[in-house]
Amino acid sequence: MAAMTQWESFLPPIEQVDYYDEMAETQGESGSSPLEVAIIGGGMTGLALAVGLLKRDVNFTLYERADNFGELGVGIHFTPNAERAMAALDPRVLQSYVDIATHAEGGFLTFVDGFHEGKGADPLTSTEETMFQLHVGDGYKACRRCDFVDQLVKHIPPEKVRYQKWLQSIGAQEGRSILTFRDGSKAQADIVVGCDGIRSKVREAMFGSANSCPKAQYSHQLGFRGLVPMDKALAAVGPSKTSNALGHLGPGGFVLTIPLSGVNAMHVEAFVMDSQPWPEIKSESDTQRYVLPATRDEVVASFKDFGPTVQTYVSLLPEKLDKWAVFDMLDAPAPSFSKARMCLAGDAAHASTPNQGAGAGAGMEDALVLAEVLAAVANLPHLDEGAVIAALGVYSEMRHERCQWLVASSRRVAELFTWKDPQYGHNKDKIRCEIEERSHVLWDYDTDGMVKETIAKFKTELERM
Ligand SMILES: Cc1cc2nc3c(=O)[nH]c(=O)nc-3n(C[C@H](O)[C@H](O)[C@H](O)COP(=O)(O)OP(=O)(O)OC[C@H]3O[C@@H](n4cnc5c(N)ncnc54)[C@H](O)[C@@H]3O)c2cc1C
Repeated sequence: MAAMTQWESFLPPIEQVDYYDEMAETQGESGSSPLEVAIIGGGMTGLALAVGLLKRDVNFTLYERADNFGELGVGIHFTPNAERAMAALDPRVLQSYVDIATHAEGGFLTFVDGFHEGKGADPLTSTEETMFQLHVGDGYKACRRCDFVDQLVKHIPPEKVRYQKWLQSIGAQEGRSILTFRDGSKAQADIVVGCDGIRSKVREAMFGSANSCPKAQYSHQLGFRGLVPMDKALAAVGPSKTSNALGHLGPGGFVLTIPLSGVNAMHVEAFVMDSQPWPEIKSESDTQRYVLPATRDEVVASFKDFGPTVQTYVSLLPEKLDKWAVFDMLDAPAPSFSKARMCLAGDAAHASTPNQGAGAGAGMEDALVLAEVLAAVANLPHLDEGAVIAALGVYSEMRHERCQWLVASSRRVAELFTWKDPQYGHNKDKIRCEIEERSHVLWDYDTDGMVKETIAKFKTELERM
């Protein structure tokens, strides 16, 4: 066996990185480390990371620009890889989801032809042809975002959180990061993790705020979403179309309908491919223009050539809606997820279109790698700048390729859902084959292996120093 390096005794042996064993259960009892981590942004990624750091007894403060943690009341689903990452972060993260999620019957996610259903037919009795089914892990689940966030927040002590702290810039002084907030206040940290979403300030601090900073671009996909009370949905389309999650596909658009039993409603999410440019967003104060007010009539018009089930669902949406321009980082990716003592996680790093239902899940994987590598840094005998930079470099190396793959793959899935590829048309076998393959790249990812590789790479980096 090779001799132990000076670092090795402070890092977990690779083969023992197992979050369900007793060692991991007691990891948080060894006393706090001097390392100070600043998490910027308390969306799902920042909150999950906070719980993961608490479990590993790594010091952090979470800065959120709003005066509370809020999420929309619309639905979210986590893919099987994300569930494994959530369990490994801290079983309470996964439990926060499972406890409040609706579990679909049969475990399948079903995609139907939402276009060729008999025109003028009664959606209560007509059927949409099944195009394909995806078997999702131990079953497809979904919950309301706000319910999941409410559960996560329960695990974070209030003294770890600073609300109304809108990060403005990051400077450096004597080897530490100096955070400046909009209210003029300042804070210090050894490591800054940007979980501050698609228009990340941390990303600007890393790569420059002018043209040099990679910015999310319009993906030419528009989203409309809302909840339809279950009694209305049942009365209009019947039980077979409301008991399970369905993707209704067709040319130029698609509609997802997901039952949320907790709120006794159907989550309806309608997407339209848009050839027009989105009005330019010039300044930070202009950012509300990613979401514009829309009306139900606009959605109904977009799906007027679809079958009666789709038409009925969109006609049940609330009269006044929001129209979301979906932006992603395909065309201008962040060159790296880390720079010096700063790094990016979640949408700040790799905002994606939602077509594989996996953006937040990728944030869970990010949070797991970060929690592990930051715990390894915190366990070192002294805080060493080189080790911090190496740790964040390993994090980026572990995450960058997979996340950029997801961003590209999710765009491709939109093409397949909307029958845009002339080679495929609406050939269900071809579409199923490719989507199945892409889904399994995502779902079957070895999250335990990811953690082991992270620690191994970090050890190698330390040995080189
Ligand atoms: C229509 C749609 C459907 C989706 N469905 C799914 C799905 O089913 N499954 C899935 O896995 N993903 C899904 N996604 C993707 C998912 O919503 C995102 O990946 C996820 O919400 C990103 O979380 P985040 O915490 O990284 O960022 P955000 O949710 O954007 O959170 C960022 C946080 O940072 C705060 N913040 C921002 N700037 C600052 C600042 N300067 N200072 C301090 N705080 C700041 C914000 O207030 C916010 O709390 C979907 C996306 C869309 C658009």
